Amino acid sequence: MRTFRSLLSVIKISRTLTAPQITNYQGSRKCMSSMSLRGQRCLITGGSRGIGFAIASKFASEGATCVIVGRSAETAESACKQLDTQAGQVHSAVQFDVSSCQRVWTPDDLGGMSLQSIDILVNAAGISQQKLLCFTSPDEIDKIIFTNLLGTIYACRSFSRAMMGKKTDSCIINISSVLASRAARGSSIYAASKAGVEGLTAALATELGPRNVRVNAIRPGLIDTDMVSAVQRDGFLPQVPLARLGTPSEVADTALFLVQNKFCNGTILSIDGGFSTS
Ligand code: NDP
Repeated sequence: MRTFRSLLSVIKISRTLTAPQITNYQGSRKCMSSMSLRGQRCLITGGSRGIGFAIASKFASEGATCVIVGRSAETAESACKQLDTQAGQVHSAVQFDVSSCQRVWTPDDLGGMSLQSIDILVNAAGISQQKLLCFTSPDEIDKIIFTNLLGTIYACRSFSRAMMGKKTDSCIINISSVLASRAARGSSIYAASKAGVEGLTAALATELGPRNVRVNAIRPGLIDTDMVSAVQRDGFLPQVPLARLGTPSEVADTALFLVQNKFCNGTILSIDGGFSTS
C-alpha cells in the first residue's frame, strides 16, 4: 500500500505557465537523519543548483520543507524532485529572478507563496565575474550588483517585514565569498557585491536580533560548482592549503550549523580550506 501510494505521489505537479511559476512536489525518498528541521519552512534563492541546492538537500533531509527559487522553472522543478520527503514535506519550485525586483517581494512575485510562512531564508542566488573592471560593461556591472547585492538586500528586507509580529525564531543565511576580503584580479564588482552582503549581514544582525531573527553569512572559498571555471580552478588551487575544492555539501553542513546554533548572530563563517589564511 505504502509503495503504491508512494508511486502515485512521487511527483505531484500543479503548474501554471504564466510567470511567476510555483510547482509543488511530494515524493518518497528516504534517508537517515536527525530530522532537526522538521516543521521548518525554508526558502532558498539559487536553490536549483550548486551550493543552494546542496543546502536545500541538507535541510530537506533534516525534515524542512523547501521552496526553491531560480530563474529557470525547469531547473528549479528538477531540483525539487530530488529533495528528500521522508517527513512528508511538499517542496515547491518558484521561478523568480531576484535581480528584477527592487521592492518588497509579494505573494504574486512568489507564485502565491507568502514569506510569512517561511522560517529560514537562504540567499544563495549569485553570478560571478571574470573580467578586469576596465573591460566590464555597465550592463555587466548592473547585473552582478542587482543579483548578488540588491537581490540579497530586497530578499532580507521582504523577509524582515514579513517576520514583524511573528512570535517564533527565524533566521537568514547569506552566501558571501572569500573574495569579499581577498583580492583577486577580474573580480572587482563581484568582490564589491559580496563585501556589501557581509556589511548587510552584520548590520541586520543588530537590527533583527532583538526580534528573534538571526542573520549570518557563509564565506566560501573555491567550491566545486558550475560557477567555477577551469581557469579559476587552476589559478586558485595552488593557493589552497588543502589543495582541493570544497564540496557544496560541506557548505551545506555550515549552513545547518548556523541554523542550529541559536547563539550565532552576525557571524560570518569562512569555509575555504585555508585559502584566506594563505
Ligand atoms: P551556481 O552557478 O552553481 O548556481 C547559482 C544559482 O543561483 C543557480 O541556482 C541559479 O539558478 C541561481 N541564480 C542566479 N542568478 C539568479 C537570479 N537572478 N535570480 C534567481 N536565481 C538566480 O553557483 P554556486 O552554487 O557556486 O554559487 C552559489 C552562491 O555561492 C553564489 O552567491 C556565489 O556567489 C557564492 N559562492 C560560490 C563560490 C564557488 O566557488 N562556487 C565561492 C564563494 C561564493 P538559475 O540559473 O536557474 O537562475
